Amino acid sequence: MAAYRGRFAPSPTGPLHAGSLVAALASWLDARAHGGTWLVRIEDVDTPRCLPGMDRTVLQQLARCGLVSDEPVVWQSQRGALYQQALERLVQQGHAYPCGCSRKDIETALQAQGTGRERHHIAVYPGTCRPERGGLQGKPARAWRLQIPGLSDVRWTDRRLGRQTQNVATEVGDFVLKRADGLWAYQLAVVVDDAAQGITHVVRGEDLTDNTARQILLQRALGLPTPDYLHTPLVLGDNGEKLSKQNGAQPLDLSDPITALSQAANVLGLHNTTARPALALDSWTSEWGQRWIQRRGGAA
Ligand code: GLU
Repeated sequence: MAAYRGRFAPSPTGPLHAGSLVAALASWLDARAHGGTWLVRIEDVDTPRCLPGMDRTVLQQLARCGLVSDEPVVWQSQRGALYQQALERLVQQGHAYPCGCSRKDIETALQAQGTGRERHHIAVYPGTCRPERGGLQGKPARAWRLQIPGLSDVRWTDRRLGRQTQNVATEVGDFVLKRADGLWAYQLAVVVDDAAQGITHVVRGEDLTDNTARQILLQRALGLPTPDYLHTPLVLGDNGEKLSKQNGAQPLDLSDPITALSQAANVLGLHNTTARPALALDSWTSEWGQRWIQRRGGAA
């Protein structure tokens, strides 16, 4: 088996909060418990949503908690050439195609079809610019989309949530790889980088579970391996939704990092401690290993 490599991949759209610290801590503990490598990757492809200097703030917050990348940090905004190569490969192999539809065009096509499906307020693309339907038909290319195969029930097993199935064709549709504004989509960047960095295990927040089937389809189309996935429990905000700045996330008080770390450990079901962060991290690592790592060839 390939040596364990995990990562924490924050988008620098705000400082770490109690929710994002849970994912950071869980991915770090999983890497340590496997005796593996833990990387930090700054996911700053959606530049309009990123705040200047926030990458440094997040890295400093992680360091205060004793969570430091084992290899130099990478920034997705500097990796466009890799995403371009992947897109070209997908196009050459008939897995991706240019799309000339505006939002309005998509709405009109869905109305004509009478079967508009939506997912998180994004319409399931009706396939207007698919090559077999005549392609762009004179329209300029705006975005690039992955052509989802018809039979695309993707099955995978999450280490915590168990078996998952998603029919990407009907539930999501041909999703965007490169956006009309020229920015790379999260799905393409994350798949290319997880493979380029040799990531064997992804540990991240449960709100991202729903993206995994899309990422697996992209990995298959690019001939890349699929890592193991574990999605961690979320911290909920005042309105019962995932904690964010908009629903009450307070900036982490890292004057005393063990308090913030203990709260994150608590969400992960780990024991409480008032020990120094380095000692607390050590004891949580053994507890995590007992809970989440299956021992091969013998009793767990
Ligand atoms: N950048 C994503 C976020 O901050 C995480 C992506 C991932 O872990 O796959 O929500």
